[in-house]
Amino acid sequence: MTNRLVLVGPPGAGKGTQAVKLSEKLGVPHISTGDLFRAQIAAQSELGQAVQRYIDEGKLVPDEVTNAMVRERLAEPDAADGFLLDGFPRNIGQADVLGEILREIDHPLDAVIELKVDEDVLVERMLARGRADDNEDVIRHRLGVYRDETAPLIDYYSDQLITVDGVGEVDEVSTRALDALHAKK
Ligand code: AMP
Repeated sequence: MTNRLVLVGPPGAGKGTQAVKLSEKLGVPHISTGDLFRAQIAAQSELGQAVQRYIDEGKLVPDEVTNAMVRERLAEPDAADGFLLDGFPRNIGQADVLGEILREIDHPLDAVIELKVDEDVLVERMLARGRADDNEDVIRHRLGVYRDETAPLIDYYSDQLITVDGVGEVDEVSTRALDALHAKK
């Protein structure tokens, strides 16, 4: 079964859109740390207030905060048989913590799907999407963070990695990802 999954890719690669599609098709919950943070900000919770500045500036929220939130979310019953993580882990430290959580429940990660998209296309897509943290300076900052902190995960996960071309129609890309997942089984 390929039901414990991580989706990685630069900001603007269409991770969120693909994650929704793939989680539906695979019948596992879509767990997006960005969505979880944005929900906390909207609710004006203490956590939301603590993380807003980082998100507005395109910086990573500190690992202790992020890891604790993910640990709690993965302990919820709907994630017992599988999940699709979107936006987590975003650095090696977070990946180590995810490894610990998975060892505790005695289930390995089944696959890591990398969505690959050229940098020029990314900036264009993000400017078009118009999210609050999508102005050009913040976008460039987020791309730099991806390059420096998140891209090393591609090597870290080389054994479980499935690389998918992220350029094309939404359904085309999700079909590519699903085919690659099935081929891996
Ligand atoms: P996303 O929706 O995945 O693009 O995330 C939006 C923002 O939320 C990021 O720019 C970070 O500020 C924050 N964020 C999301 N996931 C993480 C994570 N795993 N670690 C730290 N910060 C995160």
